[in-house]
Amino acid sequence: MRFRTRFAPSPTGPLHLGHAYSAILAHDRARAAGGAFMLRIDDIDQSRARPAWEAQIINDLAWLGLTWDAPPRRQSDHLPAYRAAIDQLRGLGLTYPCCCTRRDIRDAACAPQEGTPPPSGPDGLLYPGTCRGRAMAEAGPSDAIRLDMAKAMALPRHTGGFTETGPAHTGQHAITPEMMIATIGDVVLARPGMGASYHLSVVVDDAAQAITHVIRGEDLFAATPIHVLLQSLLGLPTPQYHHHRLIRDAAGKRLAKRDDARAIAQYRDAGATAADIRRMVGL
Ligand code: GLU
Repeated sequence: MRFRTRFAPSPTGPLHLGHAYSAILAHDRARAAGGAFMLRIDDIDQSRARPAWEAQIINDLAWLGLTWDAPPRRQSDHLPAYRAAIDQLRGLGLTYPCCCTRRDIRDAACAPQEGTPPPSGPDGLLYPGTCRGRAMAEAGPSDAIRLDMAKAMALPRHTGGFTETGPAHTGQHAITPEMMIATIGDVVLARPGMGASYHLSVVVDDAAQAITHVIRGEDLFAATPIHVLLQSLLGLPTPQYHHHRLIRDAAGKRLAKRDDARAIAQYRDAGATAADIRRMVGL
């Protein structure tokens, strides 16, 4: 199997040092393995994505000396593929429409156990199940679509876990019904006005780009069981995962996208070279 990895920035801000680390690491590993490096523009959230950021990100990656082996895949060009995946899950009887707002979820999740914090997972508070009894036939344009986690975990699956090679969680990771129900819950597959959720779209994209190795930041490790479960339900292969360390500032704070002072373009404009950026991120 030929090594194929990708870098998948969301065009919601400039490329910063943390992104540069992720992109260079994935790129160099692909080149060292004689494999392929793919680029994907994660613009599924059209309320936040901007073509100007996409253009700048691509420009910055080229300036860093990176090359990719196919034209970038843009999520907003593939909405029918996400819809088809959601229909497939619907066909398995695993989906339901949900009209709860974040506030509804907070109120319902907090009500029964005043004082103790309600359980939360990779997407925030665990969904308390308010809409779980609703049928897909009554789904309207203002509904989200959720995955019924208990039903999904009761189906036979072709994978029970995934292999991680990143420094913080190296090893085999099992995916059990107990953990998926208690720590992840009924994740959102589609949001009103947004087509697919992040989780659903990355799973479809990684399969469409034939990715064998996902290399990305440690902040996404907790979401990986969701991706592996969706791959399994959709009959898609599970890649190997590598969640790398996050680049932090001198105070130990993780670089956020809106931390424009760390934007690659600013270092470049101040005279830094691509080699300087590699050194700054420890590569
Ligand atoms: N687009 C995501 C981000 O910028 C990364 C998606 C992924 O690597 O799976 O955080």
